[in-house]
Amino acid sequence: MAAAGVLCRRGLKVELFEARRRLGGRAGSFRDPQTGRWVDNCQHLAMGCCTNLADFFRRTGVADCFAGHRRLHFFGPDGARHDFSATRGLPAPLHLLPGLMRLGYLTFRQRLSIVRAMGRLARLSLAEDAITEDGDRQTIGRWLRENGQSDGAIERFWSVVLVSALGETLDRVSLGAARKVFVDGFLASTRAYQLIVPRLPLAEIFDRRVGAWLGEHGVRVHLGVRIKRIDGSERRIDGFLSADGQRRDFDHLIVAVPWGQVRSILSRAVLAALPGLCGAEEIEAAPITAVHLWFDRPITSLPHAILVGRLGQWIFNHEPHRYQVVISASHKLTDRDREEVVAQVVGELGEIWPAARQADLLRHRVVTEPRAVFSVRPGVERLRPGQQTPIPNLVLAGDWTATGWPATMEGAVRSGYLAAEAVLKAAGKPDRVLVDDLPPSWLARWLL
Ligand SMILES: Cc1cc2nc3c(=O)[nH]c(=O)nc-3n(C[C@H](O)[C@H](O)[C@H](O)COP(=O)(O)OP(=O)(O)OC[C@H]3O[C@@H](n4cnc5c(N)ncnc54)[C@H](O)[C@@H]3O)c2cc1C
Repeated sequence: MAAAGVLCRRGLKVELFEARRRLGGRAGSFRDPQTGRWVDNCQHLAMGCCTNLADFFRRTGVADCFAGHRRLHFFGPDGARHDFSATRGLPAPLHLLPGLMRLGYLTFRQRLSIVRAMGRLARLSLAEDAITEDGDRQTIGRWLRENGQSDGAIERFWSVVLVSALGETLDRVSLGAARKVFVDGFLASTRAYQLIVPRLPLAEIFDRRVGAWLGEHGVRVHLGVRIKRIDGSERRIDGFLSADGQRRDFDHLIVAVPWGQVRSILSRAVLAALPGLCGAEEIEAAPITAVHLWFDRPITSLPHAILVGRLGQWIFNHEPHRYQVVISASHKLTDRDREEVVAQVVGELGEIWPAARQADLLRHRVVTEPRAVFSVRPGVERLRPGQQTPIPNLVLAGDWTATGWPATMEGAVRSGYLAAEAVLKAAGKPDRVLVDDLPPSWLARWLL
């Protein structure tokens, strides 16, 4: 969608083929049979540092569908609330220091040691080569322990931030991916940590509004068309065959399917020309679970909150009395009984909000996406191919291609913009599409 949104404005005729009946892919919603409303499969958040995503939202006219939040609400293991926000007037990375030092559910010692370790983590960039090689070989879990972080600090701070940002546990996350979250997402710019939350269901935004925008700008969108096989040779893609028997050819083809499916739709001759795709199926996936809860009354008026030291990691407040609790990296839930998971999550809410103990849970739904994100394990960067393939008219896109970003909407848009750049170059209209990162503050430039 991101590539189509760019290329249709640069004089190219664009057609988009999507196997499902709706646009949006993993960022999608289901219709609640009881109310008929859209409910997102799982809450999607972005951050202020997602500059390409913001550009895509502006470009396709949906920026008004998102709200920025600068205040985060943490609930410690004892149920007490601790608000966190940046201090105005302080340059990055100092803007977050007072907020961090006020996080009272951490001991004073933990807070000091976290600040020290974060400084060390961020400054690893001083040896840029070392961080890319080493950062892709070592896990952040091991690095934190080697750098004096206690179990408590890891569980109550580092995991809280990283598991929700990367969708993976710290014993699996690479040092490089973790460092990126802190530097790009928190330390480099005062605007980076701002939470960007959709105000409408994802289906409404991506399927209805972005879909309409694409149509108005000349993109022919074909829904419910599954591409079965892409044919060609090492020199050129001839075209594709869809499951409904259509044979189509194009001057340029962008393949933007997930990593687990890409090899299966490329013919043998095409695959033979793409050694960079050999590792695609080795990329591991990590699950995310959303527990949707419909109560008979409100349990909190906060729009969202971060739950520390609990099974549920985030809670989001939706239309009357519907709450969604998100559990990222939910590997351990696969064997657990759903009713038991719901009971634990509801019990945890009751420990924080008395209203949740009095409220009746009218119904619930647990949605687990087993392949929600690719796992940012050490070594994954070597398995991610670039967008331009050795076949001149075949380009790849998707959050899993080489963008330097984890599996996020920002990563997906970046891949689409890079794919668009590759197509423009091949079409003899080279242009830069990718948007710059937020500029680091003067102090961050100097310190980091
Ligand atoms: C539960 C969950 C929570 C998440 N939370 C966040 C979050 O908070 N913030 C965030 O930024 N990101 C989040 N993500 C990740 C984000 O959704 C993805 O990174 C992003 O949607 C990836 O986009 P994509 O276009 O690369 O792939 P996808 O969204 O997977 O799109 C690929 C598309 O290809 C289509 N397709 C596949 N095969 C074929 C075929 N043969 N023919 C035609 N079409 C085909 C699929 O139907 C799909 O629509 C979350 C994901 C999940 C699942």
